[in-house]
Amino acid sequence: MALFVHKYGGTSMGSTERIRNVAKRVAKWARAGHQVVVVPSAMSGETNRLLALAKDLAPARASAAFHREQDMLAATGEQASSALLAIALQAEGMEAVSYAGWQVPIRTDSSYTKARIESIDDKRVRADLDAGRVVIITGFQGIDDEGNITTLGRGGSDTSAVAVAAAMKADECLIYTDVDGVYTTDPRVVSQARRLKSVSFEEMLEMASLGSKVLQIRSVEFAGKYKVPMRVLSSFTPWDIDINEEAKSGTLITFEEDEQMEQAVVSGIAFNRDETKISVLGVPDKPGIAYQILGPVADANIEVDVIIQNISKDGRTDFSFTVNHNDHARTLELLREKVVPALGAQEVVGDTAICKVSIVGIGMRSHVGVAAKMFRVLSEEGINIQMISTSEIKTSVVIEDKYLELAVRALHKAFDLDQPAAA
Ligand code: ADP
Ligand code: ASP
Ligand code: MG
Repeated sequence: MALFVHKYGGTSMGSTERIRNVAKRVAKWARAGHQVVVVPSAMSGETNRLLALAKDLAPARASAAFHREQDMLAATGEQASSALLAIALQAEGMEAVSYAGWQVPIRTDSSYTKARIESIDDKRVRADLDAGRVVIITGFQGIDDEGNITTLGRGGSDTSAVAVAAAMKADECLIYTDVDGVYTTDPRVVSQARRLKSVSFEEMLEMASLGSKVLQIRSVEFAGKYKVPMRVLSSFTPWDIDINEEAKSGTLITFEEDEQMEQAVVSGIAFNRDETKISVLGVPDKPGIAYQILGPVADANIEVDVIIQNISKDGRTDFSFTVNHNDHARTLELLREKVVPALGAQEVVGDTAICKVSIVGIGMRSHVGVAAKMFRVLSEEGINIQMISTSEIKTSVVIEDKYLELAVRALHKAFDLDQPAAA
């Protein structure tokens, strides 16, 4: 007997028909003699619907009090889907019980809308499993020390599932979704994208942090920290496929580099449409510029990603960086009000029509010229590179957003990631 955590995303939970299918699949695993904890997302569209209602009524400047209520509201989506799944399992003749995050409890810090899981008490869940029940735990939510409901950020049910798997030392965490694994890039953008049988934890971490929305980055961080075996697979296969076949399907996130990995130099291409660029122009070029510009941004809890400082001309330089689009207006306001007058810079401009495209691969460690090839491919397509950022296993470029799909497709082909032609 093994313990499995199954996570089902919004599309997989999108209707009563789909929930019934999830219940049949879960029942199959439980009837095969396994203990199963299920972590569902809200039904697809539900979190967006709830957040839009809140926004409609929101005050002009969102306060902590507003964010508390936003979490209180958004968490109901997972509470509903969890109860529905328990009902569907009961209808399948299984004993099943659902718990909201606070009932487990899953304890988090108090940062509403992006809370971090601190601990999970698994006593109640274990007792149910030992009594032969399937346990369903709401994804995406927890409770802070003061008893407030918190949520973990968009896509956070992945993190709930991996955290539960880590806390309970599950044999594997299975992330069921609407694609059958992790692909070389988003298969919705490049139809030739190929499913990876396995992907190293490090590459998955980079892909998630660079914008591949297939897994929330914190779920991958958890998996790495606690060495949780994790697999991404489809919830859209027939529920009654052979369980051994299902257990080997999808993409396994591996921790061992010497495992049978696909040894490509570049394993995947990630992209992010959520970033925007801010440029401070005509900054007097003297020591301390980066600190004077980015210090106040960091103090305002705004995360900065790619940074570039141009060479100076006539004692002045331009300084650009990217932030999430949610922080764009606030960053511009902050710089215009405080930083530009203090620095004696000329002006601040924002550009929302950008995106970031990245190539990722642990093979980049041992190969030279990979970044140069990326730049060549983009130049051949006539795509101007605005910013560049590199690490050992990735190179990212910021380009105009209208070129995103062209860039991803061209790179996918150039780095031999396209699906091998059918024989
Ligand atoms: P869920 O609701 O199950 O959590 P998500 O929408 O969060 O599903 O994640 C699955 C989606 O991630 C896929 O439908 C796909 O479009 C997208 N995606 C982005 N990059 C990749 C990738 N490299 N491999 C697979 N899917 C990807
Ligand atoms: N329901 C939440 C969201 O839409 C969490 C999740 O689906 O993982 O972001
Ligand atoms: Mg998701």
